Amino acid sequence: MLSSPRYIYVKDAYRDEMVGKEVRLRGWVYRHRVVGNKIFVVLRDPTGIIQCVLDRSIVGDEVFDEVERLGIESSIEVRGMVRKEPRAPGGYEIHVRYAKVYGVSRDFPIKGGEGIDYLLDNRHLWIRSRKLTTIMKIKHSVLEAGREYFLRNGWWEVTPPILTASACEGGATLFELKYFERKAYLSQSAQLYLEALIYSLEKVWSLTPSFRAEKSRTRRHLAEYWHLEAEAAWYTMDDMMKVSEELVAYIVSKVLEKNKNELEFLKRDLTILKNAVETPYPRIEYDEAIEILQKRGVAIEWGDDLGADEERELTKEFDRPFFITHFPREIKSFYMKLDRDRPDVVLGFDLLAPEGYGEIIGGGEREDDYNKLLQRIIDEGYTVDDYKWYLDLRKYGSVPHSGFGLGVERVVMWIAGLDHIRDAIPFPRFRGRIYP
Ligand code: ATP
Ligand code: MG
Repeated sequence: MLSSPRYIYVKDAYRDEMVGKEVRLRGWVYRHRVVGNKIFVVLRDPTGIIQCVLDRSIVGDEVFDEVERLGIESSIEVRGMVRKEPRAPGGYEIHVRYAKVYGVSRDFPIKGGEGIDYLLDNRHLWIRSRKLTTIMKIKHSVLEAGREYFLRNGWWEVTPPILTASACEGGATLFELKYFERKAYLSQSAQLYLEALIYSLEKVWSLTPSFRAEKSRTRRHLAEYWHLEAEAAWYTMDDMMKVSEELVAYIVSKVLEKNKNELEFLKRDLTILKNAVETPYPRIEYDEAIEILQKRGVAIEWGDDLGADEERELTKEFDRPFFITHFPREIKSFYMKLDRDRPDVVLGFDLLAPEGYGEIIGGGEREDDYNKLLQRIIDEGYTVDDYKWYLDLRKYGSVPHSGFGLGVERVVMWIAGLDHIRDAIPFPRFRGRIYP
């Protein structure tokens, strides 16, 4: 027998060739039950849980008495033999010869059945839960696939700032802060900076936090979220829609490939996710969206913005992600290029996730003409001086260009089938809450 068997992860114990082998495992006590002279410890590590059986006659009184008193979430190391055991959850267990306690945990504050506010106050502990761990693994795949997509397709990753100087677009949802002797703001989007970067690198992307002081609490808005943004010179709206759908299809395909266990643990229905791997996605114009909504009895008129409720209603028409394009200029940002043939609408698009989720990407073609952009800034009542540098981009070698922004937590929320965005981020910030 090996004197010092190697450390393995829980998932590696669940293999026939491990049966009869002596192993070491480290982790946390997930469940704990004492039956006479036996202790059943379910051990948790990043890869899963496994039952470990301690017998007094084998581990000795000292170890037995110490482990007997442990509460859940204590950290321990066990050494023992992998056995097949049909009665154990998962069919395998560890027969422990020796155990070492690292950190005792007594009276872990989360026992099950607590309310959401209590759980959010204890997020630093709740984050250990299997549900949140599972979601974080899916998010890892989403981020990995996103980066991979851009790397493989010749895009440059860049690092735009988070602190910004002027109260640009959407001042209503802006976080203001003290910056030395002046005011500054937390970035809501890297877009304007990415636009400046396309003049040297052409195709750029970034992953940064974006901050939005949303006026109300909803299931899909965070005050701080991770924003995956892309911007490219020479790209039309159509080109950018292709990038958007390829990116989302790639992300979904990677999650389906790498996170089978996680999706199963979350009991995610895969039918519609599988549809999302196929491109192109359906496209409708805003006009058609309004018609669909009116037919479905929604009280909405041309010119109204589409909120979460309207988006949810529209998703009932589709069994995969879909685009809405050509929105009225009044409900979209000043930098969006107007349609040449129909100047009441912009060359903008949203990509909506099905199953009620709604917008996961917003994008479009940008106004590249200096005078037209200046006029839009004036019409919106913005301070022209705040946009001087942005206008400069149209003064020195302007090019047609397009871009988009994807909300990482929105995508995770949809792929994982969550009913609230807060579980798509380890430490959620939203209106009225920032702790822990
Ligand atoms: P919404 O209409 O859903 O509030 P938006 O149109 O204001 O979103 P954009 O400015 O288009 O959002 O931002 C790009 C993407 O960032 C959105 O498509 C969405 O996926 C994500 N996003 C925007 N606001 C939030 C938020 N508060 N929390 C999480 N993700 C967000
Ligand atoms: Mg949008």
